[in-house]
Amino acid sequence: MTVEKMEFKTEVKQILDLMVHSLYSHKEIFLRELISNASDAIDKAHFESLTNKEVLEDEKDWKIKIIADKDAGTLTISDNGIGLTKDDAVKELGTIAHSGTKEFIAALQSKEVKDNPELIGQFGVGFYSTFMVADKVTVISRKAGAGDKSGIKWESSADGSFTVEDVEKESKGTDVTLYLKEDEKNYLEEWEIKSTVKKYSDFIEHPVVMDIEREEESKLDKTKKVKVKEEEILNSRKAIWLKNKSDISDAEYNEFYKHVSHDFTDPAKVVHYKAEGASEFTSLLYIPSMRPVDIYYKEYKVGPTLYVKRVKIIDHCEELIPPYLRFVKGVVDSSDLPLNVSREILQNNRQIEVIKNSITKKVLATLGDMKEKEFETYLKFYKEFGRILKEGVHMDFDRRESIGELLIFHSTKADKDKFRTIPEYVNAMKEGQEEIYYITGSSLDEALTSPYLEAFKDKDYEVLIMLEDVDDVIMSSFEYKGKKCKSVIKGDVTLDKSEKDEKEKAGKKYRKLLDLIQDRLDDVKEVRLSGRLKDSACCLVGDEGEMDPQMEKLLKSMGQEVPERKRILEINPTHPIFESMNKIFEEDRKSKVLADYTDLLYNQALLLEGSKPKDSAAFAKAISKLMVENVQHGKG
Ligand code: ADP
Ligand code: MG
Repeated sequence: MTVEKMEFKTEVKQILDLMVHSLYSHKEIFLRELISNASDAIDKAHFESLTNKEVLEDEKDWKIKIIADKDAGTLTISDNGIGLTKDDAVKELGTIAHSGTKEFIAALQSKEVKDNPELIGQFGVGFYSTFMVADKVTVISRKAGAGDKSGIKWESSADGSFTVEDVEKESKGTDVTLYLKEDEKNYLEEWEIKSTVKKYSDFIEHPVVMDIEREEESKLDKTKKVKVKEEEILNSRKAIWLKNKSDISDAEYNEFYKHVSHDFTDPAKVVHYKAEGASEFTSLLYIPSMRPVDIYYKEYKVGPTLYVKRVKIIDHCEELIPPYLRFVKGVVDSSDLPLNVSREILQNNRQIEVIKNSITKKVLATLGDMKEKEFETYLKFYKEFGRILKEGVHMDFDRRESIGELLIFHSTKADKDKFRTIPEYVNAMKEGQEEIYYITGSSLDEALTSPYLEAFKDKDYEVLIMLEDVDDVIMSSFEYKGKKCKSVIKGDVTLDKSEKDEKEKAGKKYRKLLDLIQDRLDDVKEVRLSGRLKDSACCLVGDEGEMDPQMEKLLKSMGQEVPERKRILEINPTHPIFESMNKIFEEDRKSKVLADYTDLLYNQALLLEGSKPKDSAAFAKAISKLMVENVQHGKG
């Protein structure tokens, strides 16, 4: 029989290197990963057996067996699941980069993951964690349904390569054997294995067994003791979601959460309910308290685990949850779906749609409740997941008001560390105020002192402060109880109808001066009088439908090209500068001073919106000149 030697894929080499050299704590999670793989393999075999009789091989006795051999220094995790062909082994254990591998490598170098290696389960590279404790690993496997005894053996010492060869194997399934490192032999101890299984794998549905040696009275001679070995089940295997709520302790709920989520912190909230009627199902869902490190990656796995009558069908069923609730973890167990449901069926299935609606409603209601009754907890949740939840306002038209009610914002009227909700805002709207006003910005202080707020402050209108780059995209089209949201930095603002005529009159009166200013400023597409300024002389604004500056920053930071756009310069007609400029204009419209003032005005506006003056040196020079003139003037 030939032994083939093959190279690991580069990414896999990197992972192995990091596993061997950088991770030192919580090494026991390798056992969780192997049991989880064995359990997945059994699920697959079970699932196949429902549709494909060949795989069944009369199997009823699914199990995962742990064998500790102290003499050999090996620990074996054996299952009777689906098994691996040679091609499977080469691919799955060596040459394909599993989803999330790149992210995993990046994350492995981060402090967060180094301190909490439990996080590695999130990335689907669990098998390689064996090399934290073993310097050699062999996998002997036979694919279910293969018929004869043809199996394969995969072996590696994590030195950049692995070998595969054909071997005989008595029964289907997989044996993973770890040759433990000298100082990791504690994993051969019964108590160590038992407590690790209890801690991480108690809820695995398939029995995790081990031969336990016990001393017992001899049946032949009662005065003598004999040693007997008996297979013992180490995990409790409870389908916790099928139990009554009142029979489940918080600790149990939390433990199960850690099992399904691979998170290591307790969840913020448990949502456990049974639905009857149009669709019969049980959901045990969790709202986590901490954002998973990979939630913004494409590879992040969305959706609860789907069971049909206690049989695990799909690990992450994204059809069961809208994307803006993708942080929700847990299980859904349906009584109505067929056992052989496929991905295609899931996509257009009425039952699935019913469950998804029910879950969405329930989770949103739970969040609403949390916000009312446990605001501190809600705040923590919101800091982690608010940005994701907010997407729902944009995506789920039918529910946008109820999702909108869950959002919280800083506001010009709330204390700095307090927040405002949209319903609160709308209730407190002033007589005559028709829209929900908001300002975007990169910091609270910057937003609070923005000149764009002057007229709103003057009128005592509240303005919501939105600090996330996606806010404008999401909120600009939002409507709550017939009130539209409007950005105070875009479009024209006329807060008072009576001011409208005045502004128009003034606009006509000063039209020629405004045109002259506009002619001089190439970067500006319009110069007009402002309805939003009270103290400041001028500001730059965008058109109503234009991109928000925060969004522009985000896109630029992601390396996307953003088309240059021309802005609108708004001038405060009541500001003394404008009076002076008009005076000069009336005396001599070609005056050099007027041109200088125009540049100064524009540069000021750039500074106020957080940009740099077009020509900083020229700007500084012009100001110095003005200061000198002023002093001379004062002296004279
Ligand atoms: P994941 O379980 O997230 O896919 P792992 O690194 O834990 O990632 O495992 C890699 C792959 O190896 C699995 O997807 C599976 O195809 C295969 N595998 C691992 N262990 C077993 C097993 N006991 N039986 C069958 N296949 C297995
Ligand atoms: Mg795994």
